[in-house]
Amino acid sequence: MEEKSLNFIEQIVEKDLQEGKNNGRIQTRFPPEPNGYLHIGHAKAICMDFGIAEKYNGVCNLRFDDTNPVKEDVEYVDSIMQDIKWLGFKWGNVYYASDYFQQLYDLAIRFIKEGKAYVDEQTAEQIAEQKGTPTEPGVASPFRDRPIEENLRLFQAMQNGEIPDGKMVLRAKIDMANPNMHFRDPIMFRIITTHPHHRTGRKWNVYPMYDFAHGQSDYFEGVTHSICTLEFVVHRPLYDYFIDQFADTDYRPHQYEFNRLNITYTVMSKRKMLQLVKEGLVRGWDDPRMPTVCGLRRRGYTPDAIREFINKIGYTKVEGMIDLGLLEHTLRENQKETAPRVCAIFDPVKLIITNREAQPETIVAENIDGHPELGTREMIFDRELYIERGDFQEVGDKNFFRLSPGGREVRLKNAYIIQATGCEKDAEGNITTVFATFDPNSKSGTEGGNRKTKSTINWVECQSCVDAEARLYDRLFAVENPSAEEGDFRDLLNPNSLEIKQIKVESALRKELHATEYVDGIAQVNHYQLLKQGYFVVDPDTTAEHLVLNRTASLKDNWQK
Ligand code: ATP
Ligand code: MG
Repeated sequence: MEEKSLNFIEQIVEKDLQEGKNNGRIQTRFPPEPNGYLHIGHAKAICMDFGIAEKYNGVCNLRFDDTNPVKEDVEYVDSIMQDIKWLGFKWGNVYYASDYFQQLYDLAIRFIKEGKAYVDEQTAEQIAEQKGTPTEPGVASPFRDRPIEENLRLFQAMQNGEIPDGKMVLRAKIDMANPNMHFRDPIMFRIITTHPHHRTGRKWNVYPMYDFAHGQSDYFEGVTHSICTLEFVVHRPLYDYFIDQFADTDYRPHQYEFNRLNITYTVMSKRKMLQLVKEGLVRGWDDPRMPTVCGLRRRGYTPDAIREFINKIGYTKVEGMIDLGLLEHTLRENQKETAPRVCAIFDPVKLIITNREAQPETIVAENIDGHPELGTREMIFDRELYIERGDFQEVGDKNFFRLSPGGREVRLKNAYIIQATGCEKDAEGNITTVFATFDPNSKSGTEGGNRKTKSTINWVECQSCVDAEARLYDRLFAVENPSAEEGDFRDLLNPNSLEIKQIKVESALRKELHATEYVDGIAQVNHYQLLKQGYFVVDPDTTAEHLVLNRTASLKDNWQK
C-alpha cells in the first residue's frame, strides 16, 4: 500500500500516547446497528476503528448498537461479522448495547431521583414543535416539573408494559434554551412493545435512545477513542454531558469525527438499500450493483482493493463525494498484476482455417504475458474457431487492421498468423463463416512467431470452448447524486445497469464448471481478465453445467462524462 502521512486521528492518538493518557491504552470500537448489511462507507469506518487499534497495539471491539428491535435482526449481526472478517480485521470482544439495558435503566432511575429526568406524555409532534430553533429557545413541556415520585412510578409503568407505545417518553431535564438543540431535553427512553428484541426477547418494554446508550456503552467498555462520522459532532457535548453525570473516575472516552464516504451513482442509506432489496429492484443485498460489502465481493472486489481505495481517499473533516471511477480504478490496479488472462468471444462468428487438417493442438500460454512466474494455461487450437464478428470486414479499408479477404496478416492471440480469404452468408446477408489460411511456421513462442502484425485478435476453439453467461454491470443510478435529487429515488435507477450476454470462453475456464464452494459462508471464486473485455469474477450461481461471470470493471474508464 501507498505510504501516507498520518491522518488527523492518528495524530491525536500519537499525541495522547506521548502524553501518557490512559496509561498508553488505546481502545476503539466499531458500533454498527444490526439493521442492514454493511456498505463501503462502513468499510471506511472499519478501516479507521480497527486500523487505529492495529497500528497502536490497542484493541478494537465490535459493538452492536442494538437499541431498536423494530428494525434489527440476527441475519444482520451474522453478515456484519462475516464482512469484517472478510475485510481482514479482527475484533477483541463482541459486545451488544442490549447487554447494558439493565445498567442504562438503572442509570435512568438515578437521573429521575436526582431530578435530571422526567416522563413526558406529549406526542412526538408536540415535542418536536416545542424544540424551538437554533436561535429561538424551546418551550418547556407541561410535564417537566412533575414530582420525582410520579416520574419513578410512570417510568416503571412504561417498563411494565402498562403504557402503549408512543404515549410516554423519558426525557432528560437539561436546558430548553441551549443553543445546541440536542440539549433541549433529549429523549432518553421510549416504549417499544410491538417487536421482540433479537437478543432480549420480551424482557424490555422501554429502550434507550442512541444518545443515552452510545457514550455510556463506550464508558462501560473502557473505550478511549470513540471514532464516528461528522454528523455526530453536534451530539458530542451531550455524549460528554451524560457521561459526566455518573462517571466516578477521571477516565473519559472521547469522541472524534471524520467525513462520511459518499460515492457517486449510488445510495448508502440502509433504509433506501432495504427498499431496493424488498421491492426486488435489485436481486438482494449482495446484488453486484449494490454498494454493500457483500455486493462488492460478489461483483469481484477483493478486500485488498477495498482497503487500498479507503487508504487512497483518506480521512478529513469535510464532507464530499467520491467518484465511483476511483473505486473502479483501484480494482483495475489491484487485478492488473494478478488476474489470469483468458480469451472470450462476446459476439462470435465461426472462422475456418482451410489449409489445416482438423487436429487439436495444445498451446501453452502465459497467464499474464511476460510473467512466466505467474503460471501458464493450455489453449486448444484447431481448424474451427470463433472470433469476434467485429474483427472481420468483408470489404477492407486502409484503416482497418484486422481481417478482411486479401487483406493484412493478423495474429491469433498466442497462436498463428492468419489471412482471411472470404466468407459465407445466410439468406439475410449475415456472415455465418469466415475463411482464412494460416502460416504453420508463425506460431507464437517459436522463431517464426516473432513476425510482427498490425493487430492481434482473440479466438476460442469451437469444440473445446465453454459457453458462459456474462453479467455486465453498470452504475446502479442514472444520476450522480441520487440523494440530492427531488422526488422518488427509485425513479432515478439506471434501467441499463445489467446486461446479460451469452459468450464463449476458452477451455481453460472449464475447470470453473462446478458448484461454488463456501468457506465460512464466503464463496471461493476466481478472478480473470477476459482479454479486451474487462475484469471478471466467477459468480456463485455457477453450476457444473452453467458458467456465470460477473464483470467487475471494464479495462478502462469508458464512461461518458
Ligand atoms: P444508516 O444511517 O444508513 O442507518 P448508519 O450510519 O446509522 O447508517 P451504523 O450501523 O450506525 O449505520 O454505522 C456504524 C458506523 O459506521 C458508525 O460509526 C458510522 O459513523 C459509520 N458509518 C456509517 N456510514 C458511513 C459512511 N458512509 N462513511 C463512513 N462511515 C460510516
Ligand atoms: Mg446509526
